[in-house]
Amino acid sequence: MAKKPTPPFLRRRVVWFVLLITALSLTSPVATFLLRDKVPAWAYVMATAIPGLGSGLLAAWFGRAMVREVKAAEQLGWKRCWDCGYDLRGVAADGICPECGKAYACDELAAKWRLLAHKPAPIPVTPSGRGGPPAETGATSPPGA
Ligand SMILES: [Zn+2]
Repeated sequence: MAKKPTPPFLRRRVVWFVLLITALSLTSPVATFLLRDKVPAWAYVMATAIPGLGSGLLAAWFGRAMVREVKAAEQLGWKRCWDCGYDLRGVAADGICPECGKAYACDELAAKWRLLAHKPAPIPVTPSGRGGPPAETGATSPPGA
């Protein structure tokens, strides 16, 4: 399976998320070590369980936030800078992002965002109105149609 590209501005968020989750996960064994035999059992359980619950909730929130970022690109007609996420509606089809200065081509942006969103490009309609690529051998349409 081909690895899907991740926009750089979202990749940076993933790195921060992984660092945060790792730090949060380490609090539980640290609390276990520091608090053993020093606090009542209920406090000990809370000190070890809360980071675990917190990292689960954080992971759920982060996953939803990432999906929202891709949906935002779809709402912008896929005209969203791949590098910084800037809204590119109303600017030239090809050019330089006014926010980050990276070159873009709207066709290329649409292809990348669509791949990330699991939304294949629409089949282009040919002048004959049949749509799709030229018929191949074994096409589903009956002969003479
Ligand atoms: Zn940009």
